[in-house]
Amino acid sequence: MSNKQKISVITLGCSKNTVDSERLMNQFKVNKFDLIDNPEEADSVVINTCGFIDAAKEESVNTILSAIELKKQGKLKKVVVAGCLSERYLSELKKEIPEVDAFFGTEAYEGIVREFGGSLKYELLGERIVTTPKHYAYLKISEGCDNPCSFCAIPLMRGTHKTKPVDDLLFEAESLAKKGVKEFNIIGQDTTDYGKENYGRRNIAELLKKLSDVNGVEWIRLLYAYPSHFPEDLMKEISVNPKICKYIDIPLQHISDNVLKSMRRGITQRRTKELLYQFKERIQGITLRTTFIVGYPNETEKEFQELCDFVKDIKFDRFGVFTYSIEENTPSFILGDPVPQEEKERRKTELMEIQKEISRKKNEELIGKEMKVLIDDIEGEYYTARSERDAPEVDGEVLVLAESNLLKRGQFYNVEIYDCNEYDLFGKLKRV
Ligand code: SF4
Repeated sequence: MSNKQKISVITLGCSKNTVDSERLMNQFKVNKFDLIDNPEEADSVVINTCGFIDAAKEESVNTILSAIELKKQGKLKKVVVAGCLSERYLSELKKEIPEVDAFFGTEAYEGIVREFGGSLKYELLGERIVTTPKHYAYLKISEGCDNPCSFCAIPLMRGTHKTKPVDDLLFEAESLAKKGVKEFNIIGQDTTDYGKENYGRRNIAELLKKLSDVNGVEWIRLLYAYPSHFPEDLMKEISVNPKICKYIDIPLQHISDNVLKSMRRGITQRRTKELLYQFKERIQGITLRTTFIVGYPNETEKEFQELCDFVKDIKFDRFGVFTYSIEENTPSFILGDPVPQEEKERRKTELMEIQKEISRKKNEELIGKEMKVLIDDIEGEYYTARSERDAPEVDGEVLVLAESNLLKRGQFYNVEIYDCNEYDLFGKLKRV
């Protein structure tokens, strides 16, 4: 019997927030609430916010204000705010947006469900409502972070590193696989730190091996690895395990020793390069994704050019660039924000231009090659798909030409690559 309350959960920010919202949505479902996609058709909304950097904070505040507007128009009864922004700025938000009915921090499932008159079903906390396309999902293996990166506010919002027990994750993966999930994208703030509290050592390799034995799991993709303590056995497991994508996302943030030191990244340029060369030597066909920050307070033009030379040398398959965002209560806050925004944007553009050419050349080398792809969707005359080289939502795609209605979302097919642009590949069906 539905309890007739229609609730819309709005998720902002990163894939970790997506997992938290999916867990919360399942709790609403088992409490017989109606889940509604469109906030305008709901009785109440829960906004799972992001508080990472300025742009994300702005988006969160604007989303809250839009919901408050709907409430003022009598279209919404209740507005609940949760997640990183309210974890970090609770008192300010309470003062500045008093129209919000309740504020919660991160992973506050019990309080939120009780706010609507429900009760938390602990035994079902491992269950989620998958909001990504049904054939892939994110698996959050830990919460929080112990790394001291000077620019980062995440530990202020997500706390210290907490490993999720292997059995809980295997249960979660089994239940997702039963729902049709084939691709598991492994996430956390630092996935390489997995296990150190509960198991006395970093045992991410063991976890991935066990996950690969779960029935229905086809692809496991490692995201958010940390360079300064990349476990030796993890490199081995990725190279030998056919279910683990030959793909590593490892944010490096910079390469100049001066900047790395000030960022408190715990690694040097020489050690970073050694690690990347090892990946290329020991993991055949490895795809490397990374992230950089430009415009960090003590980054000079010379250090920025060092970064440009580095990406020309390593030739990453994928990377993203953030402009430095000064964040209060982080160690680098005292350095101020001396690099003008315009100059930060110029550096970001220059770096992305370098990458565009590298990415095009790498894609051109794949023309004529056969690839296994997973169909995500259909857009016009193309099926949009991804290969092992493409993480969802952040990387390029493989656009597959095939008769309409021949291919199925969530299925794997072999295609031959016949063309490309900077970021995407074009393939034609090789075998059904
Ligand atoms: S590894 Fe560094 S940048 Fe990433 S969440 Fe932890 S402190 Fe922040």
